[in-house]
Amino acid sequence: MRDQGPDVTIAGAGVLGLSCALALAEAGCRVSVRDPGGPGANASGVAAGMLAPAFEAILDEQARPHLGLLLHARDLWPAWAQRTGIELDRSGALAVGDDQWLGELFNRFVALDLRPAELPAAAARGLAPGLSESVGGALLTREDWRLDARVALTALRAAGEAAGVTYSAEPVKAREAGLLVIATGASPSLGDVAPELSCLSPIKGHIVRFAAPWAGGAVVRARGAYAAPGHDSLSIGATMEPGLADSAVDPGKAAPLRAAAGGLFPALTGAPSEIFAGVRAATPDGLPLAGASTAPGVFLAVGARRNGWLLAPLVAQVVAAAITGGDPGRFASRLDPARLSEGA
Ligand SMILES: Cc1cc2nc3c(=O)[nH]c(=O)nc-3n(C[C@H](O)[C@H](O)[C@H](O)COP(=O)(O)OP(=O)(O)OC[C@H]3O[C@@H](n4cnc5c(N)ncnc54)[C@H](O)[C@@H]3O)c2cc1C
Repeated sequence: MRDQGPDVTIAGAGVLGLSCALALAEAGCRVSVRDPGGPGANASGVAAGMLAPAFEAILDEQARPHLGLLLHARDLWPAWAQRTGIELDRSGALAVGDDQWLGELFNRFVALDLRPAELPAAAARGLAPGLSESVGGALLTREDWRLDARVALTALRAAGEAAGVTYSAEPVKAREAGLLVIATGASPSLGDVAPELSCLSPIKGHIVRFAAPWAGGAVVRARGAYAAPGHDSLSIGATMEPGLADSAVDPGKAAPLRAAAGGLFPALTGAPSEIFAGVRAATPDGLPLAGASTAPGVFLAVGARRNGWLLAPLVAQVVAAAITGGDPGRFASRLDPARLSEGA
């Protein structure tokens, strides 16, 4: 029942903090979200917005063992999108590249029991407007979806507000009265409050955005780069810079991403673009920490690495269940912060 749950403060207004806030408010908690950073100050606003269980498992070794969990998280999205007004695009994702690389990817797909469609070039160009004439065949999976991260953050915040969540720009500096959810991304600011945060490591990422001269289309995955359409832009990403925790933009990172953009979409050669940087937080096993900390009254929603958007509804479900006693779903133990403690 609404308005009878505990008071919960959430530190962090990225996708994980906002998602936990909404789930907790809907479960009857009085929720206040605190974050001193404005919009665009976090990894969530920088992200490409891919909900990509298939290509993450294919391309990222650390994600591969978690395919089932990633697919489950994606399957929570249609209901979550309906609750929040977030628009999902389910056109799918294409791999383009030389025959040898596509052959390797095909085998990895098959090994994971995912069946990509092999498309001729014209069909690939039909799904990804503007794609270079030099692209040969492509592999298509419909398992991967996408959203516009910046638009979706605004929608999440508004959905929270409508459910009674309040927001403040005051940082959380220490443990205060009531329950605390730490959703501070890669920031070490609350490391003294929850010992589990010490396992997080930062991975900085740069991404460039073009005002795309066309609307929509499938995500395109190429060797070393991807192109993800957004509401009114095309994002080309992204660098993986392990160990770097600052989100300052390094303009030197733009050139290779712009070159990749021009290679995939000739109309983007020389077109103006903006570069952004964000910091992902990674755990040793590639899955987030979602659930109770050993610190009493403290809960964690951090460490989603490359998949914070994909995993957000799942993390929110697990954290809300840990606080309100609801159903955490069948993957909660895989996300339990205690799994990485000494002796676990
Ligand atoms: C270039 C790039 C591309 C990406 N693309 C994708 C993608 O396509 N799909 C996908 O699923 N994921 C993607 N990711 C990963 C995704 O962005 C992250 O996993 C996700 O945004 C993490 O969200 P978060 O809420 O944990 O952290 P963040 O978004 O970083 O938010 C943390 C917030 O905590 C606040 N904070 C810190 N300390 C305090 C404090 N003491 N008190 C209050 N607030 C505090 C910060 O100001 C910040 O706003 C990408 C990441 C990058 C960098």
